[in-house]
Amino acid sequence: MSKSKFIPISEPSMDHTELEYVTDCMKSGWVSSLGKYIPEFEEKFAHFSDCKYGVSVFNGTVSLHLALVALGIGSGDEVIVPTLTFVATANSVLYTRATPVFVDSETETWNMDPKDIERKITSKTKAIIAVHLYGHPANMGEIMKLAKKHKLFVIEDAAEAHGAKYKNNKVGSMGDVGCFSFYGNKIITTGEGGIIVSNNKKLSEKMRFLKDHAMSKTIKYFHPSLGYNYRMTNIQAALGVAQMKKIDKFIKRKREIALIYSEHLKNVPGLELQPQAKWAHAVYWMYSILIKPECGVTRDELATLIKKRGIDSRPFFIPNNKMPYFSKNVQKQKFPVAEMLSVQGMNLPSSVLLSNEDVIFIAKNIKDILNK
Ligand SMILES: *Cc1c(COP(=O)(O)O)cnc(C)c1O
Repeated sequence: MSKSKFIPISEPSMDHTELEYVTDCMKSGWVSSLGKYIPEFEEKFAHFSDCKYGVSVFNGTVSLHLALVALGIGSGDEVIVPTLTFVATANSVLYTRATPVFVDSETETWNMDPKDIERKITSKTKAIIAVHLYGHPANMGEIMKLAKKHKLFVIEDAAEAHGAKYKNNKVGSMGDVGCFSFYGNKIITTGEGGIIVSNNKKLSEKMRFLKDHAMSKTIKYFHPSLGYNYRMTNIQAALGVAQMKKIDKFIKRKREIALIYSEHLKNVPGLELQPQAKWAHAVYWMYSILIKPECGVTRDELATLIKKRGIDSRPFFIPNNKMPYFSKNVQKQKFPVAEMLSVQGMNLPSSVLLSNEDVIFIAKNIKDILNK
């Protein structure tokens, strides 16, 4: 990538393998939601995530919705979610008519704070959605302890953390189910796509049934439950099978990029770099920094200045409780750590296609602008 070119925040990496498999779908006519790539992709991804079963779906958002429905969550139930996440996490709870209950983040991991989870548990709480934000695993040891103690389901939203590990455990394999997204900017992509991995056979079968209109296996066009059409297509799965050949390489490169950023941005007064807990194997979906007040420029000012030099960036998510479709009381809840992260946090370009020189160029420009 030349320095006169714009460096995007993210770019998918695809080659002749994707082209070959997708072409195979076209030539064979298997373009809809039957075809050989679907079970192959499900098996490969479940195995990659140390799980027995994988249920592919159309995108990451519906993977969360389907998991909640299959776990029996609905009206009158409460589901604990971090406020600092992509909005799909909280929305999936609203789709079931249950109530998302927001918790603050912790500074050690930027993920949901287990102490705040404990404070928010009530007699109506049914589940926790643990999000592994920006590629860093949530504190699953503490979260699973709380879930056991209070008999709660745990859904891992691992949309940003394929292959990340808490201690020796792959994300997605610790809770009741693990939900992933394969949107174009995720660690691997199927265009749009998602999967739910699990070690629970009955639950996986239920999700497979629900995602296919909940059609009876014995009586055609009899639907014993309210189902959905959340099926992944063979074309998406073909992309997925091709991407699975490279997923380990992508993660290795993401971690290398993070290391280069960290080396070149360390000890810059006012910059705080993405943490990695000592028990964590983070995959740095998007390498992230905090622009502290000592920098003398705000996060948004820095974003504008680097954009002028051809470097893209992204602000952190906005705490979900602030969205106008929540009640005024929910909007007014205070989450000091999440709010600080949301205002100061910036994702830097993290495509596996970046060269080392690109990463160094980005770091140098940030230092130059900050005059450090
Ligand atoms: C991307 C993402 C989703 C939703 O995935 P889609 O495939 O875009 O529907 C859910 N949760 C988090 C944390 C995400 O980053």
